[in-house]
Amino acid sequence: MSILVLAEQEHGTFKKTAAELLAKATELAGSLGTTVDAVVLGTGADAASLGAYGAARAFVVDGDFSSYDGDTAVAALAAAVDAASPSVVLAPASYLAKDAIPRLAARLGTGQGSECTDLRVDGGAVVGRRPVYAGKVLCDVTVSGTPAIFTVRANSFGQPEAGSGAAEVVQVSFDAPAPRLTVVKRETPEQDAVDLTEADRIVSGGRSLKSAENFDAIIRPLAKALGATAGASRAAVDAGYAPHEEQVGQTGKTVNPSLYIACGISGAIQHLAGMRTSKVIVAINTDPEAPIFEHATYGVVADLFDVCPQLTTKLGALDS
Ligand SMILES: Cc1cc2nc3c(=O)[nH]c(=O)nc-3n(C[C@H](O)[C@H](O)[C@H](O)COP(=O)(O)OP(=O)(O)OC[C@H]3O[C@@H](n4cnc5c(N)ncnc54)[C@H](O)[C@@H]3O)c2cc1C
Repeated sequence: MSILVLAEQEHGTFKKTAAELLAKATELAGSLGTTVDAVVLGTGADAASLGAYGAARAFVVDGDFSSYDGDTAVAALAAAVDAASPSVVLAPASYLAKDAIPRLAARLGTGQGSECTDLRVDGGAVVGRRPVYAGKVLCDVTVSGTPAIFTVRANSFGQPEAGSGAAEVVQVSFDAPAPRLTVVKRETPEQDAVDLTEADRIVSGGRSLKSAENFDAIIRPLAKALGATAGASRAAVDAGYAPHEEQVGQTGKTVNPSLYIACGISGAIQHLAGMRTSKVIVAINTDPEAPIFEHATYGVVADLFDVCPQLTTKLGALDS
């Protein structure tokens, strides 16, 4: 009865969440007196390398996962659960997992703690801590079914150092269900930064940027200088300053970086819903009464058009 971790991969490279979740699972397994396994959908990634983060076995499900199909993913994950017989399943709160994991839980007749930001062992069971009510309240959840399933937001535990172990690779086959949908076209956005939901640093801009040109001239260079991903408030997205995939908040993406810099963002509840679990929040705002300051670790009462370019220049100077 191990802890089974979904190690997500893309084009043969494991996502950062794989190492993060495996390391946390190893810590939990120590308290539970059990071991850690990984499940990998599709061949192509070096599954044995997951041993470096604590996986004893890596269950590699052979199949075509090049285009996401929920039915196929759930059937594949169920086959891996069948092979591994875990007592606990951990998965990142990614787009795949948000769709497939609740369906897996229903199929297995068990429960799920969603979007956890912390996990611990208490009384012999894994307890997940998750934000609710747009992040205003944190609640602890346990799962009464088996396996107990939890999804976890990226960057909740940080990146571990790789060890030297190698996981035993176990091939798993499954009967792929007849497709109920056909992917006719796939468009991948041009992206030179980490996806927002996985980014460790984010620089976001709000309505105060006043134009897409300003957003490009102020927010993106600062994000680039910091090795961060650009984000935006809904007001900035609605005004056309940034594309929708960069929106952070209730109707945008939920992010959980180590550093979130909010530039000219008031801190509306719907924006906070997407970013308030960030470890360090820096707010730059001309209005000292702006609600964002109630949640900021560091507040800068200033004009972003002054501060951001200076920050970008200083950060650029550090690199050279
Ligand atoms: C159902 C629903 C869902 C929503 N979902 C989301 C969501 O997912 N994400 C989201 O962000 N919002 C969402 N909203 C909208 C949300 O309520 C706010 O309207 C929005 O977040 C405001 O964006 P903003 O902070 O950029 O703009 P504003 O609220 O207009 O704030 C601009 C801020 O910039 C400051 N400022 C102005 N000029 C400067 C300057 N030169 N330098 C520094 N600071 C300056 C001002 O003091 C102000 O605090 C949602 C609303 C609803 C009703």
